[in-house]
Amino acid sequence: MSEKTLAIIKPDAVKKRVIGKIMSRIEDEGFSIHELRMRSLTKEDAEGFYAVHRDKIFFSDLTDFMSSGPIVTMVLERENAIKHWRAVMGATNPAEAAPGTIRRNYGFSIERNATHGSDAPETAAFEIDHFSKK
Ligand code: GDP
Repeated sequence: MSEKTLAIIKPDAVKKRVIGKIMSRIEDEGFSIHELRMRSLTKEDAEGFYAVHRDKIFFSDLTDFMSSGPIVTMVLERENAIKHWRAVMGATNPAEAAPGTIRRNYGFSIERNATHGSDAPETAAFEIDHFSKK
Protein backbone atom coordinates (compact mmCIF):
# COMPACT_ATOMS: atom_id res chain seq x y z
CA MET A 1 0.00 0.00 0.00
CA SER A 2 1.28 3.44 -0.90
CA GLU A 3 2.37 5.63 2.00
CA LYS A 4 3.68 9.19 2.41
CA THR A 5 6.50 10.58 4.54
CA LEU A 6 8.03 14.00 5.09
CA ALA A 7 11.64 14.43 4.06
CA ILE A 8 13.92 17.41 4.60
CA ILE A 9 17.28 18.22 3.10
CA LYS A 10 18.84 20.06 6.03
CA PRO A 11 20.90 23.30 5.90
CA ASP A 12 24.26 21.47 6.02
CA ALA A 13 23.46 19.46 2.87
CA VAL A 14 22.09 22.51 1.04
CA LYS A 15 25.33 24.41 1.85
CA LYS A 16 27.36 21.42 0.69
CA ARG A 17 25.52 21.52 -2.69
CA VAL A 18 24.29 17.95 -2.58
CA ILE A 19 20.56 18.63 -3.12
CA GLY A 20 20.81 17.10 -6.59
CA LYS A 21 22.62 13.98 -5.41
CA ILE A 22 20.11 13.39 -2.62
CA MET A 23 17.10 13.94 -4.89
CA SER A 24 18.56 11.66 -7.50
CA ARG A 25 18.89 8.93 -4.85
CA ILE A 26 15.29 9.54 -3.77
CA GLU A 27 14.06 8.96 -7.33
CA ASP A 28 16.31 5.92 -7.78
CA GLU A 29 14.71 4.45 -4.66
CA GLY A 30 11.30 4.57 -6.34
CA PHE A 31 9.76 7.47 -4.44
CA SER A 32 7.54 9.98 -6.16
CA ILE A 33 8.14 13.53 -4.96
CA HIS A 34 5.31 15.88 -4.01
CA GLU A 35 5.10 19.37 -2.52
CA LEU A 36 8.77 20.09 -3.14
CA ARG A 37 9.82 23.45 -1.78
CA MET A 38 12.92 25.32 -0.68
CA ARG A 39 12.28 27.46 2.39
CA SER A 40 13.97 29.06 5.37
CA LEU A 41 12.69 28.38 8.87
CA THR A 42 12.69 30.93 11.65
CA LYS A 43 13.86 29.70 15.04
CA GLU A 44 10.16 29.59 16.05
CA ASP A 45 9.25 27.50 12.99
CA ALA A 46 12.01 25.03 13.86
CA GLU A 47 10.84 24.88 17.47
CA GLY A 48 7.29 24.11 16.30
CA PHE A 49 8.44 21.40 13.92
CA TYR A 50 10.67 19.72 16.54
CA ALA A 51 8.28 20.27 19.48
CA VAL A 52 8.55 16.59 20.49
CA HIS A 53 12.23 17.23 21.29
CA ARG A 54 11.49 20.32 23.43
CA ASP A 55 12.94 18.72 26.59
CA LYS A 56 16.13 17.38 25.01
CA ILE A 57 19.43 19.05 25.88
CA PHE A 58 20.19 19.53 22.18
CA PHE A 59 16.87 21.30 21.39
CA SER A 60 18.33 24.80 21.27
CA ASP A 61 21.34 23.76 19.14
CA LEU A 62 19.10 21.74 16.82
CA THR A 63 16.64 24.58 16.24
CA ASP A 64 19.51 27.07 15.72
CA PHE A 65 20.94 24.71 13.12
CA MET A 66 17.61 24.11 11.35
CA SER A 67 17.04 27.86 11.08
CA SER A 68 20.61 28.61 9.96
CA GLY A 69 19.94 28.46 6.21
CA PRO A 70 17.57 27.23 3.52
CA ILE A 71 16.17 23.71 3.62
CA VAL A 72 14.28 21.61 1.09
CA THR A 73 11.03 20.01 2.22
CA MET A 74 9.14 17.38 0.26
CA VAL A 75 6.55 14.69 0.65
CA LEU A 76 7.79 11.30 -0.57
CA GLU A 77 5.44 8.56 -1.66
CA ARG A 78 5.96 4.85 -2.29
CA GLU A 79 5.17 1.54 -0.64
CA ASN A 80 6.45 1.48 2.94
CA ALA A 81 7.74 5.05 2.51
CA ILE A 82 8.42 5.85 6.18
CA LYS A 83 10.63 2.85 6.91
CA HIS A 84 12.24 2.83 3.50
CA TRP A 85 13.28 6.50 3.63
CA ARG A 86 14.73 6.01 7.13
CA ALA A 87 16.72 3.02 5.87
CA VAL A 88 18.06 5.05 2.93
CA MET A 89 19.03 7.91 5.30
CA GLY A 90 20.78 5.61 7.79
CA ALA A 91 21.39 6.06 11.52
CA THR A 92 21.07 9.49 13.14
CA ASN A 93 24.81 9.65 13.76
CA PRO A 94 26.61 9.56 10.37
CA ALA A 95 29.56 7.80 12.03
CA GLU A 96 27.23 4.90 12.87
CA ALA A 97 25.27 4.94 9.61
CA ALA A 98 25.78 2.02 7.22
CA PRO A 99 27.99 2.54 4.14
CA GLY A 100 26.00 3.86 1.19
CA THR A 101 23.36 5.61 3.29
CA ILE A 102 22.75 9.32 2.79
CA ARG A 103 23.84 10.29 6.27
CA ARG A 104 27.03 8.27 5.94
CA ASN A 105 27.74 9.83 2.54
CA TYR A 106 26.82 13.44 3.30
CA GLY A 107 26.32 13.91 7.05
CA PHE A 108 28.85 15.73 9.19
CA SER A 109 27.79 15.07 12.80
CA ILE A 110 24.92 13.68 14.88
CA GLU A 111 23.28 17.10 14.53
CA ARG A 112 24.35 18.05 10.99
CA ASN A 113 23.20 14.83 9.44
CA ALA A 114 21.98 15.99 6.01
CA THR A 115 18.37 14.79 6.02
CA HIS A 116 15.23 14.27 8.08
CA GLY A 117 12.53 11.63 7.77
CA SER A 118 9.34 11.04 9.74
CA ASP A 119 9.63 8.10 12.13
CA ALA A 120 6.02 6.81 12.31
CA PRO A 121 2.62 7.25 10.61
CA GLU A 122 1.45 9.73 13.28
CA THR A 123 4.56 11.92 12.96
CA ALA A 124 4.40 11.74 9.15
CA ALA A 125 0.80 13.02 9.28
CA PHE A 126 1.78 15.84 11.68
CA GLU A 127 4.87 16.84 9.68
CA ILE A 128 3.17 16.76 6.26
CA ASP A 129 0.35 18.87 7.65
CA HIS A 130 2.81 21.25 9.36
CA PHE A 131 4.48 22.19 6.09
CA SER A 132 1.45 22.05 3.82
CA LYS A 133 -0.05 24.97 5.75
CA LYS A 134 2.94 27.27 5.25
P1 GDP B 1 16.26 11.13 13.67
O1 GDP B 1 14.84 10.63 13.78
O2 GDP B 1 17.23 10.08 13.18
O3 GDP B 1 16.37 12.42 12.88
O4 GDP B 1 16.78 11.46 15.15
P2 GDP B 1 16.07 12.11 16.44
O5 GDP B 1 14.58 12.18 16.27
O6 GDP B 1 16.61 11.38 17.63
O7 GDP B 1 16.68 13.58 16.50
C1 GDP B 1 16.21 14.61 15.66
C2 GDP B 1 17.40 15.39 15.15
O8 GDP B 1 18.03 16.02 16.25
C3 GDP B 1 18.51 14.55 14.51
O9 GDP B 1 18.28 14.22 13.16
C4 GDP B 1 19.72 15.46 14.68
O10 GDP B 1 19.75 16.51 13.69
C5 GDP B 1 19.45 16.07 16.05
N1 GDP B 1 20.10 15.31 17.13
C6 GDP B 1 19.84 14.06 17.56
N2 GDP B 1 20.63 13.70 18.58
C7 GDP B 1 21.41 14.78 18.84
C8 GDP B 1 22.44 15.07 19.81
O11 GDP B 1 22.78 14.23 20.65
N3 GDP B 1 23.02 16.32 19.75
C9 GDP B 1 22.64 17.26 18.82
N4 GDP B 1 23.26 18.45 18.83
N5 GDP B 1 21.68 17.02 17.92
C10 GDP B 1 21.07 15.80 17.91
